[in-house]
Amino acid sequence: MTDSQVRVRYAPSPTGTLHVGGVRTALFNWLFARKNGGTFVLRIEDTDLERSTEESVEQLKSSLRWIGLDWDEGPEVGGPHEPYRQTERLDLYREAAQRLLDEGKAYYDFATPEELAELRRQAQAEKRAPIYTGGEYREMDLEEALRRVEAGEAHTVRFKTPRNGETTFTDMIRGEISFENKNLEDFVIMKSSGTPTYNFAAAVDDATMRITHVIRGDDHISNTPRQILIYKALGYPVPPFAHVPQVLGPDKKKLSKRHGAASAEEFAEQGVLPEALFNYLALLGAGYAADEEIFSPDELARRFRIEKVSGNPAVFDETKLLAV
Ligand code: GLU
Repeated sequence: MTDSQVRVRYAPSPTGTLHVGGVRTALFNWLFARKNGGTFVLRIEDTDLERSTEESVEQLKSSLRWIGLDWDEGPEVGGPHEPYRQTERLDLYREAAQRLLDEGKAYYDFATPEELAELRRQAQAEKRAPIYTGGEYREMDLEEALRRVEAGEAHTVRFKTPRNGETTFTDMIRGEISFENKNLEDFVIMKSSGTPTYNFAAAVDDATMRITHVIRGDDHISNTPRQILIYKALGYPVPPFAHVPQVLGPDKKKLSKRHGAASAEEFAEQGVLPEALFNYLALLGAGYAADEEIFSPDELARRFRIEKVSGNPAVFDETKLLAV
């Protein structure tokens, strides 16, 4: 494999069924990989043990297979592939957090939930944004902090976000997006339970899996600067990002069962053919020329251009789906 080979991923949290918005995001990743002769990775983000279920993992896999979005690799060599799972990669996040601690780019924070709640209340009362920058812990001597950790004191690990400057990226769909670092606060990377936060696990995974383009839902735009800071602190190159808009119903509210069907499973139950849903979602707001008659997945992939995807929410129209 050469370093320039395209690698993309779809990274669902197994906390429910696969919404068509998720199918569309997975589909754009798949089309991008197939167009470029690259690799499409499926990564189950299951570190939230309370909300993740095995039933949802199975549903996600079977919905993706039903619609024809096959993934190319998994932790085992050879196929058929089981997807990657973050709960099988916990050592990797712990090692990365340790590196940041050793290099003074992260710190142990011993503030209790009550202290943090009090700081938030104060900020609210003074009409300030509640931005936590670690107080006395940010610059605490590492040996002293380690003594407290070893004595069993509850703690999180926080990233030392730069106080000044901006974190900027060029989104492949939306153009340049900038965040002021001072508004990002010293966010938690390892929770008191010893498990990583979403931002940390996703950035460590995307970096170590050598993901070349991060294509995901636009609900993650505000997470991207935090993940970019993690990439840089760990010394990894920052990939380009594309944030895909949500899928809404004709009333401009998030598509839900109220509109008829919203998950791949519900569409399957209603007798919608997977090829029809594949085609409809591939063409929905993806910027293919209006007069193009493109039906096969290979042809859709050949002509797919991520920069052409609309930055506006996609409006799902079931009557058009049934006409495909
Ligand atoms: N696990 C996240 C979600 O289901 C996606 C994270 C990502 O694509 O970076 O919303």
